[in-house]
Amino acid sequence: MSAVGSPPELGVRVETDVDHVFATATHDGCPDFTADDVDALVDDLIAVLGPRGVSQLPRALGRASRDGSGMSPVLSAQLAEGELGTPDVVCYPRRVEEVPAIMRAAVRRGVPVTTRGKGTGNYGQVLPRFGGLVLDMTSLTGIHGLDADSGTITADAGTTMLTLEQYAWDRDHQLWMYPSTVQSTLGGFLGGGSAGTGTIVHGRNHQGFVTAVDIVPATEDARIIHLEGEDAQPFVHTYGVAGIIVRATVRVEPLQDWRCVYASFGSARGAFDAAWAVLDARLQPRLMSADGAEIVDALPSDPALVRGRASLRGIIDADEVEDVAAIVASYGGQVEDVREGITQSVRLSTISYNHPTWWLQKKQPGRWFHMECQGNAVVDRLEEVEAVFTTPDGGGLFHLEVGNNMMFGMLNGRIDENESVAELKDRILAGVPELTALGVGVHSPHQWYIDLEPERVRALADTSDPHGILNPGRWM
Ligand SMILES: Cc1cc2nc3c(=O)[nH]c(=O)nc-3n(C[C@H](O)[C@H](O)[C@H](O)COP(=O)(O)OP(=O)(O)OC[C@H]3O[C@@H](n4cnc5c(N)ncnc54)[C@H](O)[C@@H]3O)c2cc1C
Repeated sequence: MSAVGSPPELGVRVETDVDHVFATATHDGCPDFTADDVDALVDDLIAVLGPRGVSQLPRALGRASRDGSGMSPVLSAQLAEGELGTPDVVCYPRRVEEVPAIMRAAVRRGVPVTTRGKGTGNYGQVLPRFGGLVLDMTSLTGIHGLDADSGTITADAGTTMLTLEQYAWDRDHQLWMYPSTVQSTLGGFLGGGSAGTGTIVHGRNHQGFVTAVDIVPATEDARIIHLEGEDAQPFVHTYGVAGIIVRATVRVEPLQDWRCVYASFGSARGAFDAAWAVLDARLQPRLMSADGAEIVDALPSDPALVRGRASLRGIIDADEVEDVAAIVASYGGQVEDVREGITQSVRLSTISYNHPTWWLQKKQPGRWFHMECQGNAVVDRLEEVEAVFTTPDGGGLFHLEVGNNMMFGMLNGRIDENESVAELKDRILAGVPELTALGVGVHSPHQWYIDLEPERVRALADTSDPHGILNPGRWM
């Protein structure tokens, strides 16, 4: 098994500096704009989109003030205290060609713009820190074809990942990757997500998944700019601070004959070791996740997720099902079911990545938080990792994902019934160096900062957003 040492390289930042585990709600970067500027912008937007394309109704503003950050008790408290923000106006373009005019108007009025997909981002990165305009991209759903020769598919930013995957399957292809939030948008996954089903083979979404983007910068003369290849990569995972992605071309590959394999084990140790053995055997699942019995008990009811037992489940090439079954048996597990078809693949995806945490929190509201962890030590030293956030009610529970040549996942920690958010934050801070010492790289889901090469992204944003109006307040 792996040598345990310093934390591995993360696609996103590792929290070695405990100052950045949480975000501080300063006014740094807040654009100087007034209610009159917003009123003037509303008039401009109505001229571009018509009255139905613009809303200041409380319901619309409320919807644009919600996202997946409810998974973090720390961000939830900051949201409750108004530190994450509510928009002044929301607009809904119906054609990508309308976006440059929206942007020119926002630049003219100096009003901040936060671009929004389905709002499933869980770092609070889609909530407008200082108000202003929320640009809702969900009506931009055109698909512009799958090109089997180049192995790509092109779509407008509001198209859901599920729609794209279905479109590809209908043409005997599959996306390189999609997140467990299958209803999230292409623009949102590229802007705020990082990985998912397919990552075991293809890595994270900034590692070659994108072959072209159409960007709208925040400049006086904003127009759609088409960028290909290396020029397109820098815009991935930038939370919309470097330009709005209105259309993107991403990689597809010929469809494989997939099977969804569900296995159960007497212990998490057996399931985790079997997951390791699958990776070690160089089998290439599209997805492989494992959980101990307590998490399994929180997942949606399914006979293949056996109550009281640990689970290993994966999307496996039909030719490799026997090899996986042999590994399962050799670690004392048993195969519970083998299923096929896109519905089953998607269903299995929706209990991967952050979703087991989400189900735990649904079962016991207010009693769980999580930290994103990477490194093979999460298997090698599972028991020590789970012990880091021990409370009188018990240790943590690790949700395992097999990644691209490494293990990662979510360490779910218990929250004491009477524990304040301040006390919880102290415990999280104390846990980071402990995890690091175990050889685990930690990324905090309790902060809203740009977390992928922030210096590079800032330099890019200086050019594409010279007035600092794109999703401001995201810099450490
Ligand atoms: C339960 C749960 C499970 C999750 N599982 C995964 C997972 O498996 N993998 C993963 O990577 N993430 C996961 N996430 C995080 C999130 O769902 C993904 O990042 C998702 O793909 C975001 O898409 P969205 O359409 O909801 O974007 P939003 O949440 O609306 O936006 C996300 C970010 O992208 C920016 N943005 C949105 N659209 C654009 C655009 N067109 N141009 C530029 N910037 C834009 C926003 O400003 C924001 O900063 C999960 C979250 C939850 C709550």
